[in-house]
Amino acid sequence: MELFKPMGLTNEGENQTVGETEKVKCLIIGSGPAGYTAAIYAARANLDPVLYTGLQMGGQLTTTTVVENYPGYPDGITGPEMMEHFKGQAERLGTDVRIGMATAADFSGGDLIVTIDGNRKIKAGSVIIATGATAKYLGIEAETKYAGMGVSACATCDGFFYRKKDVAVVGGGDTAAEEATYLAGLCNKVYMIVRRNVLRASKAMQERVMKTPNIEILWEHQVTDLFGENGVEGAVLVKKKGTPDEETVKINIHGFFLAIGHTPNSDIFSDFVETDQAGYIKTIPGSTKTNVPGVFAAGDIQDPHYRQAVTAAGSGCMAALDAERYLSDLKK
Ligand code: NDP
Repeated sequence: MELFKPMGLTNEGENQTVGETEKVKCLIIGSGPAGYTAAIYAARANLDPVLYTGLQMGGQLTTTTVVENYPGYPDGITGPEMMEHFKGQAERLGTDVRIGMATAADFSGGDLIVTIDGNRKIKAGSVIIATGATAKYLGIEAETKYAGMGVSACATCDGFFYRKKDVAVVGGGDTAAEEATYLAGLCNKVYMIVRRNVLRASKAMQERVMKTPNIEILWEHQVTDLFGENGVEGAVLVKKKGTPDEETVKINIHGFFLAIGHTPNSDIFSDFVETDQAGYIKTIPGSTKTNVPGVFAAGDIQDPHYRQAVTAAGSGCMAALDAERYLSDLKK
């Protein structure tokens, strides 16, 4: 006897539209490596996945230049091109990739309902949240001007391109400390631009920074501009802003790395899905399960630590397998 029919399934197990509401077996939200990998696995498991891309189709990787650390590309590949490959593979295997933004969710009462673009309602048998996290930027115009030309929010992704050069990392938290020490191993000199006179980073990370001879901390400095002809060649900083000792200084750098935090894109789910204080979705360790049955989280939305394309893809695979098992258990 069927005690509970997953909401996305019809009697025949097909996706369908009833009235205003569309029913799907597996709804994937997000088009980064996690979302597309989940789609590839879900499609091959006959879950007929529907994937909504979000505003930034392809996710954070579309803002990087060359990706050299994703296995399988011996010569590297540009971020946008790689994401086209992910998309092509997901579509070829049967994923319905749609442009649209999840704007609301309602997981109360057993149904998994997601609203797209404010008006289209989807009732899903399972939902894979792969909405990622957005790197925070300072908000200065130069960050846009030099996007992909020296400005980056990921040292692990882009640090390699600044080997033996001088670079700067903005921020004083664990990410900034980690990125600065990582870059110090590749670059000639790393400036760490810290807005206060203390680091927020853990003691252990602070010690690593202090012990690294080619990191120079610029305390109480704030960035106001970047300059350069064909890419970043330097930054304009204000020291001790707003005090009588305020002064403007310039540093010559080729790479400018933001490490002032990320914002996990979990807002629309957080009334139902448990998150940590920063907004990252909590998953049951060793799985992608959230506290809501049938809702799974993959990629950066549940990972404040590794944040790599390959780890996101791995968790996307896990989410599809978890969703498949969830749906087949419901049928038993
Ligand atoms: P955090 O929020 O911890 O730190 C952000 C840093 O950026 C702070 O130093 C902050 O300054 C600075 N900052 C924020 N906005 C601006 C701005 N507009 N201008 C200049 N500076 C700014 O973010 P993280 O990404 O570093 O860490 C997020 C979480 O992940 C933390 O809990 C961290 O511990 C954890 N993490 C753990 C790691 C590990 O265990 N290996 C590695 C990386 C992260 P201020 O201090 O003045 O607010």
